[in-house]
Amino acid sequence: MQDQNTQKQVYHPLESVEDVEQFYMAIRREKLTQKLAPERPYCYWTIETYDKSNGIRGGGGLGVLAADMRRVAEQLQVPFVLVTPFYPWESHQKMENLEQIDYHVEQHYQDYGFNFVDSVNIKTSTGAVALDVVEKRLGSSRFLCITEPNFGELYSGESGSDHRLYQEVALGFGGYKALKLVGCRPGIIQLNEVATFFAAVARLDELVSCGMDFYEAVVYTRKHTLYTNHTLVQAAEATFHYDQFERYVFPNIKSVAVKRWLSDKFTDGMIRLSTPTVEIAELRSGVSKLHARVANYRDINGDKVKFKAVTNGIHLRSWTLPEIMSYYHDHEILDKFDLPAVRNLSEKIEQISAEDIRHLKGLGRAKLNEVLEHRSDQYGNPIQIPADALLFDFKRRFVDYKRPWLPFTEPDRLAQILAYNNAHYILAGRVHMGDATMFKKLMDLLKLIDSDPILRERVHYLPDYDEELGYALSLGANASINTPIVGLEACGTSWMKDIANMGLLISTHDGGVADCSADNYLTIDGKNERQEVAELYRQMEVAAKAWRNDFDLEYWIHKELTAYLDVISGTRMMRDYLNFLF
Ligand SMILES: *Cc1c(COP(=O)(O)O)cnc(C)c1O
Repeated sequence: MQDQNTQKQVYHPLESVEDVEQFYMAIRREKLTQKLAPERPYCYWTIETYDKSNGIRGGGGLGVLAADMRRVAEQLQVPFVLVTPFYPWESHQKMENLEQIDYHVEQHYQDYGFNFVDSVNIKTSTGAVALDVVEKRLGSSRFLCITEPNFGELYSGESGSDHRLYQEVALGFGGYKALKLVGCRPGIIQLNEVATFFAAVARLDELVSCGMDFYEAVVYTRKHTLYTNHTLVQAAEATFHYDQFERYVFPNIKSVAVKRWLSDKFTDGMIRLSTPTVEIAELRSGVSKLHARVANYRDINGDKVKFKAVTNGIHLRSWTLPEIMSYYHDHEILDKFDLPAVRNLSEKIEQISAEDIRHLKGLGRAKLNEVLEHRSDQYGNPIQIPADALLFDFKRRFVDYKRPWLPFTEPDRLAQILAYNNAHYILAGRVHMGDATMFKKLMDLLKLIDSDPILRERVHYLPDYDEELGYALSLGANASINTPIVGLEACGTSWMKDIANMGLLISTHDGGVADCSADNYLTIDGKNERQEVAELYRQMEVAAKAWRNDFDLEYWIHKELTAYLDVISGTRMMRDYLNFLF
């Protein structure tokens, strides 16, 4: 009651915020607590989190985004709960005879400062599974994890398999029970992709089981649920059978009406989780402007689903060299919340001199070399990149649409660019377990490199790509290469780390890069792949020349930072989500 009384008199700056200062006053003066509070937090559900310092290794960008959301929330003191599995096993890769070998490492939550809270049960048609609920608090945020010894690894089993469904059901229904257990009810639920759909079902079922009319409960759940989509094509999504739902899902639903509602979403005995997800989430977002525009999703009536663009950002303090971060703050390029200056941003950025850039990059290179001391290349040896050498990098999951092989289309040309510019090229990646095509492409690529004396000396493949490598390469590389087939990258965040660390970006115009126009970075333009390859080599030469020429270097770094600082700021992302939600 008290809540409602005060709420009436309170002005909600978030609803009208134009000015970023105001947004922060909203948080600091605790106006935001009208909507969010420690016991009514922002609840972010995700099957994947990438935060190894807290014990959880992810697979790629989806997990990095989840980890960065929590970090930004902690920095800005937003009450925030990250609901995610703690996987008892994680996969790693090493090289043997130029072949990727997968191996598995057991993980214990106790080793990472998690506390056991209690157990919760989820049901299957044949019994119950006990899940441990463990938590770790960090400022206003916390990890709330469910786990059990047979939970397996991230993305273990085929998509659409029983085990995946079990993991998703455990995360949704188990995670919702965990939330109750720690005394929280969700202020808002964000579903990071459809694997988290069952969290919304758990909420709907709870409301109906407590006596709320079914349609009212649907409306209520819809209003407080945000579905964030990362996938472009609905057809690519896994499907589940009705009988899988009978075994794993329905036993966890109390309300007959909710079961019926969900049963109606099957076509020919099959379901894609996005179909009920777009129904239960009134708020839907895509992860870049381009992605929100082109994501092709239909609801159950065949109508096109609209997505609001909230471009991913990164937690700048986690991904930027501390000296560069201080530089941005000292020069008032970023404010204390890590948003770019509202006034005279481009003038401030123009003060960054080539000398400063070179000095900071030098520090970054030293940091990279520290990390490289305990990593190995495709031959199993540690490498070092000389301080005076130029470094290109390509650091990404090895998936076909990202085209890691593109720069090797003309090996002689690449070798000539590297030798002429005293440049090295680091490829960091990992092939998904079971991806036979990419497994072979990687091996062929490594054989090609091995067969050419220049490439063999100057191209290094670093397996087991992880956050440590992602971070270190952003710090130490001069130019990074990003070559997704245009239209297939939802956002991407690696390139954001490169821009934050004053590297040159060579990229196709796709994902979040396309939030700004193509003249702000070294763009790879082309009507077909042959033209793209030619443009890629040309831009590598432009980048190499820029690092020799102060004027060009300043020109491109200033351009990139002026255009993209706002896009890449995780604070900007959080602001956009809060504005969208409330
Ligand atoms: C930043 C990062 C990503 C994100 O990759 P994108 O291809 O840009 O989406 C993935 N994996 C790791 C380890 C990272 O550090």
